[in-house]
Amino acid sequence: MNAAASVPGQALRESDRAALRLLVGEAVRFDEPMAPKTSMRVGGSAAAYVTLGETDRLVALLKYCTQERLAWTVLGLGSNVVVKDEGFPGIIVRLQGGFTRVEVRGTTVRAGGAAPIAAVCREAAKAGLEGAEALVGIPGTIGGAVRMNAGTKVEIGELVRSVELVVAGEDVRTMTLPAFQYRSSNLDRSAVVCAAELALHAGDRQAVQARLREHIARRNATQPLELPNSGSVFRNPPDDFAARLIEASGCKGMRAGAAEVSTKHANFIVNRGGATCAEVVQLMTRVQKTVKAATGVELEPEIQIL
Ligand SMILES: Cc1cc2nc3c(=O)[nH]c(=O)nc-3n(C[C@H](O)[C@H](O)[C@H](O)COP(=O)(O)OP(=O)(O)OC[C@H]3O[C@@H](n4cnc5c(N)ncnc54)[C@H](O)[C@@H]3O)c2cc1C
Repeated sequence: MNAAASVPGQALRESDRAALRLLVGEAVRFDEPMAPKTSMRVGGSAAAYVTLGETDRLVALLKYCTQERLAWTVLGLGSNVVVKDEGFPGIIVRLQGGFTRVEVRGTTVRAGGAAPIAAVCREAAKAGLEGAEALVGIPGTIGGAVRMNAGTKVEIGELVRSVELVVAGEDVRTMTLPAFQYRSSNLDRSAVVCAAELALHAGDRQAVQARLREHIARRNATQPLELPNSGSVFRNPPDDFAARLIEASGCKGMRAGAAEVSTKHANFIVNRGGATCAEVVQLMTRVQKTVKAATGVELEPEIQIL
């Protein structure tokens, strides 16, 4: 459904298991269930799941993936991704440890690729820096946000001054002012964001903190956060809103098994308990068909199916 969710390649072989143990030791787990690591809580296992906190180990792992032509991807907090029920046949990498660091230097915030967006917004607010408040309720990491150009009133791309990357098969490099479009960036699919520098500006600490609270309150009031979900399922078409079209087409409350179009926010699918990825995909297809028949608009998925 979304071709860019992973770097295509071979499935993990028996020989890769031993090689990965040598390369990253205890940091690799095999046949690791992914549902608990994604916000929709559906889907199968990763053939290999590697958690890393250091750039040199990431470089080494991605060189191995490239050499062996293995399928791999990087996962942030899994808030925009659902994993297929049959699982992911290659390696899923997750950054942690040193990659979660957030540092404020003047009006610049340097945040690791695995730093939660909310933590970055809170650190910025503590330092009296404004510009990132609207992003506080996005439940992902800086790496995922840069890849997706996540945003609401502000898109993260408007704030990013530079990113530190590891492109598979290469060493670390810095990219100044990457290009962003609506919910996408020009980052190579095989690039992992290790850190990003955000340019903010000086403001009033209390006012910034009050705005964080307002943004969180607004989300709590309008989004079905009490049930597992992946945020907006479809991209907004030009000059319109996917939620408006879905609601106008009568899809609110539509179900496939335990997957349901939220009655609170029409562009959310919620997992009412025990849903499968197949049910989520089936429901997405039904919504797309219904909206197309009712309005003529073809909705494009925003969430990525891995
Ligand atoms: C309740 C809810 C509300 C949401 N609201 C919004 C919103 O207002 N605006 C919005 O834009 N999105 C929203 N989202 C979607 C999601 O939170 C964002 O897209 C977020 O940026 C994804 O970050 P993540 O760390 O969870 O990435 P994941 O979902 O884990 O991954 C998303 C993509 O980013 C890639 N990726 C992850 N980490 C890295 C990295 N370090 N380097 C390179 N690529 C990486 C993955 O490979 C994948 O392609 C919402 C989701 C939920 C569940």
